Amino acid sequence: MEGIGQKTEADYIFDKTIKCDVCGKEFKTKQVRTGRARFIGTDDILKPMYEGIDTCKYDIILCPHCGYAASQRNYGHLTAKQRKAIRENVEPRFKAKENDTDTYSYERAVRRCKMAMLTEMVTGGKISESAYLCLKLAWIYRGEIEEAQNTGETDERIQMYHKYENEYLEDAYNGFKQAVATEYPPIAGMDEMTINYLLTSIAVNLGRNDEAKQFGSAILTSRMANAKIKDKTRTVLEAIKNN
Ligand SMILES: [Zn+2]
Repeated sequence: MEGIGQKTEADYIFDKTIKCDVCGKEFKTKQVRTGRARFIGTDDILKPMYEGIDTCKYDIILCPHCGYAASQRNYGHLTAKQRKAIRENVEPRFKAKENDTDTYSYERAVRRCKMAMLTEMVTGGKISESAYLCLKLAWIYRGEIEEAQNTGETDERIQMYHKYENEYLEDAYNGFKQAVATEYPPIAGMDEMTINYLLTSIAVNLGRNDEAKQFGSAILTSRMANAKIKDKTRTVLEAIKNN
């Protein structure tokens, strides 16, 4: 139920016109009005949380003409060779016509994120960027689980979303572990301590307690880690003890 003056999700977003970096055509994409949505914090796997809107649904920019998709952070940062790869490998196979709606559903957010994965694959992006997209999908499924619980969806459906969340967390975990061994920070925009924290927390989620403790102790014993991230690490490690 909506009260008078209470904001709906549509109040937090706007249509932004973008010129595609690959095909040159213009299109509209929905973006969050950054000044309007109040940031609450991040959850254990660093999903950003805002009051009144799940901003994770709106991070991917997708060109409806050629299928090029990327997160806002990476959109438009392509070489000529990568543009060519998208035109040759994505555009001919892309035929998703999306309806014009006020907001994006979770289903649509999943599809957009998977298109960004296809772009990553075709352009030979870094392993960390693919891992980050897997993490984003896990964030999106977390949102979908919450929505499904609020709207009284069946347990089977909710279990299915949990399964997807776990699968993408697993992919994100393996990707980030590989990235830590082969890339220099910042990794997908995160510094070394943040990525160690993330690995700790995902490992806890996946029930890999020994690995979680290993990543966690690297933070707790580091002089580079600040008090805030140490606290967050202790909190996620507590979940192991309580099991
Ligand atoms: Zn395009």
